[in-house]
Amino acid sequence: MSALRPPRRGASLWIQRSVRNKLLAMALAPLLVVLPLLAAVLLVWGNAAYDRLLITKVRSDLAVARGYFDQVLAEVGSGTSAVAESHALLKALQGGDAATVNRLLLAARERLGLDYLTVTTSAADDAARTAHAMAEPAGERAAQLAVLDEAQLTRLAPHLLARLQVPIVPTLNAAPSDRKVENRAMVMRASAAVTDDSGRTIAMLHGGVLLNHNLPFIDHINRIVYPDGSLPLDSQGTATLFMDDVRITTNVRLFKDQRAVGTRVSRAVSDAVLKRGDTWLDRAFVVSDWYVSAYEPLLDATGRRVGMLYVGFLEKPFRAVKYGMLGVIGAIFLGVMALAAWFSLRWARSIFRPVEQMNQTMQRIEDGDGAARVGPVAAQDELGALANHLDQLLDVIGEKTRALERWAVELDGKVAERTAELARSNASLVQAQQQLVKSEKLAAIGQLTASVAHEINNPIAVIQGNLDLMRETLGDQAAPVSTELKLVDEQVERMRLIVTQLLQYARPTEFAGYVETLDVNRVLEDSLVLVGHLLAHTRIEVTRDLQARNRAGVNRQELQQVIINLLVNAIQAMPEGGTLSLQTRDWQSGDGAPGVALAVADTGAGLAPQTLERLFRPFFTTRNDGNGLGLWISRGLVERYGGTLTAGNRSDGRGAIFEVHLTTEPQAPVESSASTNNGRPIPDR
Ligand code: ADP
Repeated sequence: MSALRPPRRGASLWIQRSVRNKLLAMALAPLLVVLPLLAAVLLVWGNAAYDRLLITKVRSDLAVARGYFDQVLAEVGSGTSAVAESHALLKALQGGDAATVNRLLLAARERLGLDYLTVTTSAADDAARTAHAMAEPAGERAAQLAVLDEAQLTRLAPHLLARLQVPIVPTLNAAPSDRKVENRAMVMRASAAVTDDSGRTIAMLHGGVLLNHNLPFIDHINRIVYPDGSLPLDSQGTATLFMDDVRITTNVRLFKDQRAVGTRVSRAVSDAVLKRGDTWLDRAFVVSDWYVSAYEPLLDATGRRVGMLYVGFLEKPFRAVKYGMLGVIGAIFLGVMALAAWFSLRWARSIFRPVEQMNQTMQRIEDGDGAARVGPVAAQDELGALANHLDQLLDVIGEKTRALERWAVELDGKVAERTAELARSNASLVQAQQQLVKSEKLAAIGQLTASVAHEINNPIAVIQGNLDLMRETLGDQAAPVSTELKLVDEQVERMRLIVTQLLQYARPTEFAGYVETLDVNRVLEDSLVLVGHLLAHTRIEVTRDLQARNRAGVNRQELQQVIINLLVNAIQAMPEGGTLSLQTRDWQSGDGAPGVALAVADTGAGLAPQTLERLFRPFFTTRNDGNGLGLWISRGLVERYGGTLTAGNRSDGRGAIFEVHLTTEPQAPVESSASTNNGRPIPDR
């Protein structure tokens, strides 16, 4: 795939490029969507459920605390009543034994755990009675919660004044206030009448518990609500009594050893509980940390909300456990997802292994490796079968390809063969065409020549006749012009000869002579004699190599004419002298007919290429006195008997060589083609 593109495209390419990846994505998509959703739902739901559980717990904690509070209140009431009804107290009071009364009350106070227990008998004690009765409708056995000011407490229990004052500590989140100290007392109190036998009230007994700075009381509540080990994970249970919004006794710590007495409740809690009378069940910021908290209002005898009872426990450890648990759940989900992805990947890989192998095989085939095959695959399923089929298919294709290649080679051979044949037949066609053209030309020339020769014959005869007549008539008088007459004679004879030769070529049948089987060596020797006068004046040496034993089927005069023509040409080619070589050999034609080969070679200038080309054309001559008909007619004569006349330069480059081939039995005329034999020696047959 090329350099990586931006992530989105890269990711889509990753999926697009592989079926395995596509299916993998398809299989994992629900897992990837469903599992996180499930995890999220579980987290939210678990969180809420856990919070509800904590609230439920703190509510029951508050109920326990309230139960104890009410129990203590009841005990104050019942204890006070029991002492008021005691006979010893009645007797001591009736006897005016103040010392005994004090001893009895002190012992009872100790026993009942009260902070004060006093008796009022006369008008002198009215103030104390009034203090007790202020917030009390009827002094029955029930104890009440009451808030007393400093004077009231002084009258009732001056020894408690030391515990009265609660300095107010500025507190975060509390409602604004400029009070510096709380100097009222919150008490659980009870009053009971001491009556004589006739049922007359002789005195009033007042008992109570001061809640300001009452640490044992609050610690006891805390121990009841949160006994050791009841809160897990180092959470701390706390309990507090409020007068209005001020902590008058608490086990909540400000610092390590300092209790948070004098601090105030948060404004939110104060509004809800003190103003509206609700019970608060929620997280709350207590002094310096978050607590799972429960507050409920405390009412005095008149139903006025004078304070609050609080219990709660530190939220932090629970929160840590909660988040730890949620973390574990999340980790489990992640683990499950990773495991599922890993399994899917492995599975997909094993499923798609054959597909990938097939793909690689096709790639190698495309790269030119025709022998590439998928090979054995582990999968037994449809994909495995497909891979096997592909191999079989590739085998078949390979076989067909090889057959095609063989056919192609054969076809190439055949095409080359046919092409050669065509070239050959084309060459023969061209040759035949040339021959046809030549024949037609020759025929035309023949006709023309014959008619011209015929027309010239008569004037020649007239000239010759008149010349003879002139000579006869003049007799000796012709002597002065005898030389001129002789010249005219010669020229007339020359004209006649030319005309005869032309007619001989043009109408061969009219001139065709008697055909014999001739001894070529003999004819050659005769011809030499006939050109003897030409040789006499030259410095030409004649060499003979006459080995022919076969005979040639040809007319004697015609063969002699041909040979003389060749000899004369050779002599004329060597004006400065040289060697005239004559050669004969037995020879055999292409179709096995026996014959003779004859060669006339000279050491003259040889044949220039342009001469060679035009040598056998009629009227081609390079000599001033030549007529250019000799070779043309000679070839015509030889070919008439199925022979050939060819010309060329000697292989040693010294002069020309002309060769005549004739069979013993005259053959059908062969058409001459090449004008040369390129100096090949005459075959030795
Ligand atoms: P002519 O002899 O009248 O010219 P030919 O047909 O016999 O006509 O010869 C044609 C020409 O061929 C000559 O003019 C000459 O140029 C050339 N030729 C023939 N024989 C030879 C030879 N042996 N050596 C060189 N040239 C030759």
